[in-house]
Amino acid sequence: MSEGVILPGATLGVLGGGQLGRMFVHAAQAMGYFTAVLDPDADSPAGLVSHHHIRTGYDDPQGLAALAQACAAVTTEFENVPAAALDTLARSLPVSPAGSAVAIAQDRAREKAHFVQCGVPVAPHAVIETPAQLAALDAALLPGILKTARLGYDGKGQARVRTPGELAAAWEQLGRVPCVLEQMLPLAHECSVIVARGRDGTVVHLPVQRNLHRGGILAVTEVYEGNLPPALSSQALAAAKSVADGLQYVGVLCVEFFVLQDGRLVVNEIAPRPHNSGHYSQDACDVSQFALQVRCMAGLPLTPPRQHSPAIMLNLLGDLWFAHGGDAPASPAWDRVLALPGCHLHLYGKTQPKRGRKMGHLNVTGSTAEQVRATALQAADILGIEAF
Ligand code: ATP
Ligand code: MG
Repeated sequence: MSEGVILPGATLGVLGGGQLGRMFVHAAQAMGYFTAVLDPDADSPAGLVSHHHIRTGYDDPQGLAALAQACAAVTTEFENVPAAALDTLARSLPVSPAGSAVAIAQDRAREKAHFVQCGVPVAPHAVIETPAQLAALDAALLPGILKTARLGYDGKGQARVRTPGELAAAWEQLGRVPCVLEQMLPLAHECSVIVARGRDGTVVHLPVQRNLHRGGILAVTEVYEGNLPPALSSQALAAAKSVADGLQYVGVLCVEFFVLQDGRLVVNEIAPRPHNSGHYSQDACDVSQFALQVRCMAGLPLTPPRQHSPAIMLNLLGDLWFAHGGDAPASPAWDRVLALPGCHLHLYGKTQPKRGRKMGHLNVTGSTAEQVRATALQAADILGIEAF
């Protein structure tokens, strides 16, 4: 047995109890591991299905000590856990990804600097931390998107600005916290790549995913041959690998890209964990992104994943529970959706649907891209998701 391999029967821990943690727990348990989740919320989606649930804050020394005591290795499902918590845990057990990599992903300014260092193209941007930096800003960056350097997700902590006046007002509105202003780019598509990098530096990847966002939130992911020009896919894979190598990364990493109308590829951001755009891998690939997360943290071999079916993922937001209008939520017609071939329903166990809240996803698989598209469009129509 290779040194440091953690075999099934051991307990694997995860910081964060959201849906990504829940799907990690399912994958770990399927492989015969016990699981522990650290999350303050008694009803967290992952806490509800884990063998152990430690209900403390992410920086609670007793909670972290209990997690370290219970587990053979720890990972995270959430990039906003304090990097210091990962560093504390790393003193007593293997932690992947490392706090240093998560710290870069937590901060858009550091993240952009890392991309530049790796030679990967980024959007023209400027860091705004002081009124002087705001005043000195190059007007060529407008119109742009002002994004808080930390704690943004699903388009939150962002403002679209057209003029220096709007920019100043938006920075005020965001509480004058450190921000990055990015030039608004003419997007043709968005895409992402999931890579998994092992302790020995082996890198494997899932196929390049084509993503459609609506209102700053991922809506649809399409993965099949021909979803993007092949040259672009190769470029995205090479860029994702260099970003992971540059971080000495161990674990699953998602790199998100913009494809511009002139065909250029620009990196947007990274997520130091499995990603919403990789969920199709649960039903369309022989190894899912969550199984890859388990393998990375346990020091198990990484074999190249193979996609066996064309796939489309539809995100199921809380809005669908209100599709009939009115304020009382009603369950969508899952029975009608599941009557369609190749539909795999994943719900996260959240009892309170809210507009914009990620409640689950639907993976659609089939034998051809045309068939998968036709089925996905039928499912979207039944659920009240706009066609794509
Ligand atoms: P998440 O973490 O959920 O992926 P986020 O809140 O971190 O989202 P971003 O990925 O930065 O936000 O932006 C959300 C979406 O807004 C992008 O997927 C894209 O559709 C659009 N967007 C962001 N930056 C730009 C830009 N510079 N030019 C054009 N569109 C952009
Ligand atoms: Mg994003």
